[in-house]
Amino acid sequence: MSKTYDYDLFVIGAGSGGVRAARLTALGGKRVAIAEEHRVGGTCVIRGCVPKKFMVMASDFSHQFETAEGYGWTVEASFDWPKFIQTKDVEIARLSGIYVANLGKAGVDLIHGRAVLKDVHTVEVTHRDGGESRTITAENILIATGGRPWLPADLSGVEHAITSEQAFHLPELPKRILIAGGGYIAVEFAGIFAGLGVETTLIYRGPNILRGFDDDVRAHLAGEIEKRGIKVILGCQHSEIVKTESGLVNRLENGMEIETDVVMFATGRAPHVTALGLDAAGVDLDDKGAIKVDALSKTTADNIWAIGDVTDRMNLTPVAIREAVCFHETVYLDNPQHFDYEAVATAVFSQPPVGTVGLSENEARHACSGEVDVYLSRFRPMKYAFTGSDERMLVKLVVDATSQKVVGVHIVGPEAPEMIQLAAIAVKAGLTKAEWDATCAVHPTMAEELVTLKEKQRPGNMSAV
Ligand code: FAD
Repeated sequence: MSKTYDYDLFVIGAGSGGVRAARLTALGGKRVAIAEEHRVGGTCVIRGCVPKKFMVMASDFSHQFETAEGYGWTVEASFDWPKFIQTKDVEIARLSGIYVANLGKAGVDLIHGRAVLKDVHTVEVTHRDGGESRTITAENILIATGGRPWLPADLSGVEHAITSEQAFHLPELPKRILIAGGGYIAVEFAGIFAGLGVETTLIYRGPNILRGFDDDVRAHLAGEIEKRGIKVILGCQHSEIVKTESGLVNRLENGMEIETDVVMFATGRAPHVTALGLDAAGVDLDDKGAIKVDALSKTTADNIWAIGDVTDRMNLTPVAIREAVCFHETVYLDNPQHFDYEAVATAVFSQPPVGTVGLSENEARHACSGEVDVYLSRFRPMKYAFTGSDERMLVKLVVDATSQKVVGVHIVGPEAPEMIQLAAIAVKAGLTKAEWDATCAVHPTMAEELVTLKEKQRPGNMSAV
């Protein structure tokens, strides 16, 4: 360690990536400080994955009650939103406390405040409640400031809209909500509110929800969420939001007017780089406004690194954590490591949920010179046999026709996120379709479809969006 600096490493942002990097480095004997301007745990713990999943679980009970009635139960249920929000917030505070404790156990100095770069080795930290700022020097600096919701600032009336950040703390459950956006956050919140009995409209300017996912998944899920009562309006966006005495009137470009109590925008997220002092340290942004990094997460300044959503590579918690581990290996263990972004499994906690890993059919057609075998099954999950539900499950395998490796797995239906985690092991390992088929099924399960799909889709059968 150089004695000229206060710390070996200064981390800006105590979210998924920052906390992991700080702890690993401190446990390795280095002097580490971390600054957090909001609450320790970052987006994932405080206003992302974790509270979102609690909300999905709360909401999904309504569907389970309906299913239960098919099995002979009589369920009289009611939902207490303030009670749920309070319970959820207690748990979030507990989890944040664990993160704080773990930083302390590792010997990391936690500094509550907003950090701004002053030069390549210097940051200034100001407590969010004001007061004196501190100037701190470090040999290396890691930027892990995450992302923030993006809103169309030029839309008239957008100030009446909320984002996911406020959705976690609505004082009461609205009767009507309109959610703008077609990405996973929009779809997940639409499912949450619809499941809780809120009249829910999803509006998206693109041709179908979940851009970037497999087209069969997109089409299937759009149909399924409509069956669960969500009104989906595609190819359209707001022209104006007007506040009236009875609610918020959403004027759409197609001439429709929809009145709701709440309008939520989930129209994307932007890297959190505002007033971070990047210029003072010679840290450049890329053309999308994310911090520019090389494969090892080094920025354009030699001793400054960046990981997680602020680099806008693959904005997921486990990825930010893996990037943190690679940073630590590279900088402190003399073992240059870059994260492998291939075959990262991901889930959409829509209702029904989605699990996906590897290439979509379209991506595979480009990557595998067009020679792709597709295996697809749509079926009613056994659980719904007595309920009259016409919900269908989708299981799709995309196989490189030449190597016969399974390069993509896409599932829509109950437990898809749990299934895809396991399927991802086989995809990552590069197993062939024959090796999948050699695996004996577990019966009766939904997952057995993964190893029993025999018939290739003929090109004429393939659905497109
Ligand atoms: P963050 O976790 O965002 O942490 C950044 C931290 O830096 C924040 O705490 C912030 O307050 C702090 N900070 C920013 N600027 C400064 C500064 N100048 N000084 C001090 N502190 C600062 N991912 C999944 O894998 N699965 C999911 O199901 C999932 N669901 C999501 C749901 C929602 C609604 C959202 C918004 C995100 C979700 N994500 C999910 C994405 C996931 O939360 C992020 O990919 C992950 O949190 C990124 O980690 P990070 O370390 O880059 O940044």
